[in-house]
Amino acid sequence: MKQEYETVIGLEVHVELATRTKIFCGCSTRFGAEPNTQTCPVCTGMPGSLPVLNKQVVEFAVAAGLAANCKIRNVCKFDRKNYFYPDNPQNYQISQLYLPICYDGWVEIQTESGTKKVRIHEMHMEEDAGKLIHDEWEDCSLVDYNRSGVPLIEIVSEPDMRNAEEVIAYLEKLRMMMQYLGVSDCKLQEGSMRADVNLSVRKAGSSELGTRTEMKNLNSFKAIARAIEGEKERQIELLEAGKPVIQETRRWDDNKESSRAMRSKEDAKDYRYFPDPDLPPVLVSEEWIAQIKSRQPQLREEKAAYFQEEYGLSSYDAGILTESKHLADLFEETAVLSRQPKKAANWFMGELLRLRKEEGMEPEEIQFTPGHLSDLILMQERGEINNQTAKDVFKKIFKEDLDPIPYIEEHHLKIVKDSQMISGIVEEVLKQNPDSVEQYRNGKEKVMGFFVGQVMKKTKGKADPAEVSKCLKEKLAEF
Ligand code: ADP
Ligand code: MG
Ligand code: ZN
Repeated sequence: MKQEYETVIGLEVHVELATRTKIFCGCSTRFGAEPNTQTCPVCTGMPGSLPVLNKQVVEFAVAAGLAANCKIRNVCKFDRKNYFYPDNPQNYQISQLYLPICYDGWVEIQTESGTKKVRIHEMHMEEDAGKLIHDEWEDCSLVDYNRSGVPLIEIVSEPDMRNAEEVIAYLEKLRMMMQYLGVSDCKLQEGSMRADVNLSVRKAGSSELGTRTEMKNLNSFKAIARAIEGEKERQIELLEAGKPVIQETRRWDDNKESSRAMRSKEDAKDYRYFPDPDLPPVLVSEEWIAQIKSRQPQLREEKAAYFQEEYGLSSYDAGILTESKHLADLFEETAVLSRQPKKAANWFMGELLRLRKEEGMEPEEIQFTPGHLSDLILMQERGEINNQTAKDVFKKIFKEDLDPIPYIEEHHLKIVKDSQMISGIVEEVLKQNPDSVEQYRNGKEKVMGFFVGQVMKKTKGKADPAEVSKCLKEKLAEF
């Protein structure tokens, strides 16, 4: 009788901010550096060190809050969340409990069943912890503090989602928003976006919330979808058997496709939160908010609408080209430089998507100079290269960011317009095919195609077809 239950889901999403330096010190936030090379007394919790707030973190948080229709607090504060763990050298995390910077917002998501608002309870600023490495040595764990003090915003939704499809649409929405704002790259694999899924079930039609569990360790959209299915089933089975669901934190193991209890759920009071005495309140004036608002770039929906209006793209093409901010930027630059948006879109929707699929690349991994593609488009427009050459050169631009102008020059790939040379080859072809010439004379015009083909073959496709036709007609009249 599983259809009698409704699933209720609320998300806590951590997004690592794309600041150059950490939230309370000047250490670099670059991903992938040697362990413990980006640390200092502040982010390793040394006695006597003092935090200083990074202004960019506040601006990013406000930008994200505005994009998600949140209210912004003019005065907010930081609080200490106290707990011991080896990845947390201060024994507390600086976060915001009482007065989060952004609150009461919403985002709209789109699924098969239409559009829906997911309410945002709050967004707050906090610092990330270090990273424990368990598997490299058998008998010990290691800790890397490079990530300690990297700025995060935590985005807490209301329990407004009902299934995995909505959850993924919500996460996609946040990811697009953050990427377009330039606030975060939101890579689940690198952990710059992390989602904890709070889930409960209840009898359909009931307005009371059931007891929820919180699932952690979800590092792909697929894992999130599987975890939701698994947890929903588990809770329904418990309830059907007359057993209670226990409020706890569970760790999803995507290989085993099952979760296990990590710890019983702690409450805010367990952490002995108190205002951080080292940090003064953060004042965010209306002027500052207005300034941040005025700098807000186009978000995905606006960008897609712009591509349709300005460049005449279909809504389908505009949707695909804005699927990643990086791709949208590459396209837009190519369109602007070449002034051939339709042609640029054709390259992006055709060859580029095909090659990307072939190579199994993420949109972010596509790296070429838009000027190179724009040069190629312009050469093709001017009739300087044929389609095959354009396709071959495009592949090289895609793979190795080739500069097409010198390459086409050096490899003599330009279409030959030299009428003297073409006329020589035309004569040669006519001489070698007297039977076909005879056929042409007898009114069989179709052999024209054969002649053009022969001339193209001899010039390796580089002769200008218009020039070839013209020359053939002239010569055949004389022959
Ligand atoms: P905590 O801070 O202790 O994790 P919160 O009350 O702040 O708890 O809620 C955290 C997340 O859990 C929010 O996204 C919220 O929407 C969600 N949530 C709370 N109660 C439920 C429930 N009964 N079922 C599903 N999700 C819930
Ligand atoms: Mg929580
Ligand atoms: Zn530091």
